[in-house]
Formats: sequence, structure tokens, C-alpha cells
Amino acid sequence: MVLKNNRVRTLCVDLGGSRVKIAVVEDGRVLASEMFAVCATTAETLATVAVKGRELMSRHGGSFAGLAVAAAGIVDEANRRVVICNGKYAGLEDIDLVSWAQREFALDFRIVNDARAALMGELAYGCAKGEADAVIVILGTGVGVSSVSGGHIVRGRHFVHGLLGGHIPVNFDDDRRCTCGGRNCLEAYVGSWALKEMAGDPTYDYRSLEQDYAAGDARAKTLFGTVSRALGAGTLALAHMFDVETVIWSGGVSRFTALIDEAQRLVLENAWTPWGKIRFLKAADPEASVTLGLHALYSGIEF
Ligand SMILES: [Zn+2]
Repeated sequence: MVLKNNRVRTLCVDLGGSRVKIAVVEDGRVLASEMFAVCATTAETLATVAVKGRELMSRHGGSFAGLAVAAAGIVDEANRRVVICNGKYAGLEDIDLVSWAQREFALDFRIVNDARAALMGELAYGCAKGEADAVIVILGTGVGVSSVSGGHIVRGRHFVHGLLGGHIPVNFDDDRRCTCGGRNCLEAYVGSWALKEMAGDPTYDYRSLEQDYAAGDARAKTLFGTVSRALGAGTLALAHMFDVETVIWSGGVSRFTALIDEAQRLVLENAWTPWGKIRFLKAADPEASVTLGLHALYSGIEF
């Protein structure tokens, strides 16, 4: 990572699974932000981004270096377009976002996968400053993964390198269907959607599990065992695969300390790392890492 000059102001948009976050960022500090629920259509969502984004820009005048967008899906960073975007942004693949950004904001435009943005945010401004060989594991509805090697974010031939780390199989004695079409993926045990399925209760979330587990509930113990073993196995596979020294936890579920501690214990117990011991870091503000990573795209930081 090379830090050149980050005295710059940007408009950053995180197209999340259920909410869109827009922020004005300067020098790695969020000056103002707004959030709204994803609209019924992608066109409506983009129209709302344009209105709210321009409002934020006019309230915080000055010159903006660009508009940076994070999307959950496969993003062609070079051609600045979404290749595949699952879930709530149907048709985003067909929209010329470069022209949209020019028309609505008169700004330069960049777009990146959200997990990769979160990694860049933690490397540039967050808990992982100065880390050169690390993998981020983002625990939320799904499991987001991205890695940095020798200080460079490896993007791969199709911009997918590392990003599908949530979809490595962690179990061969089961038949859990995953959102990717595969079976028994890390995400099929650890994603919050999977927890609901395994609990047989659409309202069950990680907060429920944390409370029930602390209270000694038998079902919660079983679920905790399943989730922590999957998380430990998947994270160890990622650490081995990417030759990292550091694992960065992020996402709301990373606040579940007992779960993270158990996964870390399993990683260390089973790791083959003759060079030393894998270290673990946790994002201080998991909600901010994507935004700061987007800002980093315009702040002269080279990964
Ligand atoms: Zn999968």
C-alpha cells in the first residue's frame, strides 16, 4: 500500500443488501451520511441516490474528486460496470453507470465489489493499517471475503479473486443448499440467512443465538457448534490459500465475541504455519469500512 495524498473529498455510495448508504468523505473522515431502504426497482434506487447525493454535495460544498460505488456482486473495475449483481439490484448489469454518474453528478466514477471496498477501508484507515498479507472475512447476511498479498489487492482475471471465499465447501457430510447454487458452503452455515434456516425460525438472528447461547440453551449450543466449526474451517482454508499473516473480521456478526473466539481457536489449533502464528484483527466500526474503502479509491492510495 502506497500512501500519496489523501486530502480529497468524495461522494461514496454503498449499495447494500437491504439499505443504501451515501456519504461525503474527506481525508478518510465521514463528514455526513444518509441511509435509505433499497427501492422497489433499481431505477428508483438510482434516482434516490442521485437526489440524496446531490443534496449532500450541496450541503458540503467544495470540489469533489469523484463518485465511488460499492456493489455486492461481481464488478468489472476496469470497465466500471457490474457483471452480476444478485438480489435487489435487478438490471444493474445493463445500466451505463459511467454516463449515469456524469449526468447526475458531473463526477468521475469508480465501482468496486463491497467486500473489496471493506478491505481497502480497513487497510487505508481502519484496524489493518500497514498490513500487507491479510484476508478480510465479513460476517453479515452472507460471508464476504477479499485478500491482500504483498501489499497488493489481487483482482484476478475476472475481478473475482478471493471474493467467492464465502462459497468454499466446509462440510462433505451434509446437504445444505447455498445461494450460489452449490452445497455446504461456508456461507450456507455462517450467513445470517443460513442461521434462520438452521434454526427453523425466520426471526432467529445472531443476537438471539448470542443470548440463548449465553443462557446455556441446548439448541443454541448445537447451532453455535455448527456455525463456529464452519467459520473456523472456512477461515483456516482462506488463510492457508492466500498465505496471510492476518485475518480481519468485519460485519455486524463480528461483534459476537464468543463465536469469533471459538473460530480463532479452531483456526490456530489446525493451522499449518511454520512461519509463525496467524494474527486476528477486528474492524472497530464494521459499518464504516466500505465507505472508507470507496474514499481510498480517490485518495491516491495504491494497493
Ligand atoms: Zn455458496
